[in-house]
Amino acid sequence: VLFIAFLAFTTLTIFASWKLSQRYMRPVLKAWQQQQDFVNSAAHELKTPLTIIQNKLELLLTKPNAQIKDQYDGVIMALSEIRRLNSLSADMLTLAKAHSNMAVINREPVELSEFINQVIEPYSEIAELDSKQFTTNLMATGIVLIDRQRIHQLLVILLDNALKYTESGQAISLDTMIKNKQLIIMVNDTGRGISDQAKKHVFDRFYREDKSGSRATGGTGLGLTIAQWIVDIHKGKITVEDFKPQGTTFKVVLPIK
Ligand code: ADP
Repeated sequence: VLFIAFLAFTTLTIFASWKLSQRYMRPVLKAWQQQQDFVNSAAHELKTPLTIIQNKLELLLTKPNAQIKDQYDGVIMALSEIRRLNSLSADMLTLAKAHSNMAVINREPVELSEFINQVIEPYSEIAELDSKQFTTNLMATGIVLIDRQRIHQLLVILLDNALKYTESGQAISLDTMIKNKQLIIMVNDTGRGISDQAKKHVFDRFYREDKSGSRATGGTGLGLTIAQWIVDIHKGKITVEDFKPQGTTFKVVLPIK
């Protein structure tokens, strides 16, 4: 009897510790794996711009007597890669803070009309310079409690993308409304649209539908990951829809207090 009791006790202890380790270790291992993936992808993303800059600078050294105007194309390319590295590191810092929970949400009363008008002011000008139409339909008014700085950042990401992925002559619009105690923001464009396959991944870190093309547009593949995080901390939802044959809409729904 003693032996059977000992056997049962040991089996139970082993089973309980296995269950406990499953419960507590799995999230730790998952977080560690995600961290590893992030470092791998980040190192990969940094490698190409750094190689381009290194090559261009080494080329300059091989012709020390050449004038800067003779090397213009190389210098311009190196500069644009440096700009890319700059926005990449800013985006990576934002996400690192997001994941370490260092960033807290800072809700404050925001007057919607004044706020949205301030955000979109530069976009009307940029769109005009690019010969794109930019229209707004701002039905949401009043005061809401949101993190002003983060929602500003969210709108900048969506409007920048709308501009980036449309051609001259195409249109961009921003619509806002309040429905069922929710603030709805829609950024629409008549640009190239998003494939069904890409729709599943656009919010993933470093995802870009067209890797080579986004070098020209200066994309980092982190913008929508940050957008998703900003919406998450507001306990809202962000979705993407595309309109065949052309156009994309990003819809953000935020519960308001
Ligand atoms: P990026 O810096 O490359 O724009 P994002 O995370 O902001 O990174 O977007 C990820 C990808 O989603 C983009 O590379 C692009 O393929 C796609 N995308 C985002 N916005 C749009 C849009 N308005 N129209 C078409 N594709 C888009």
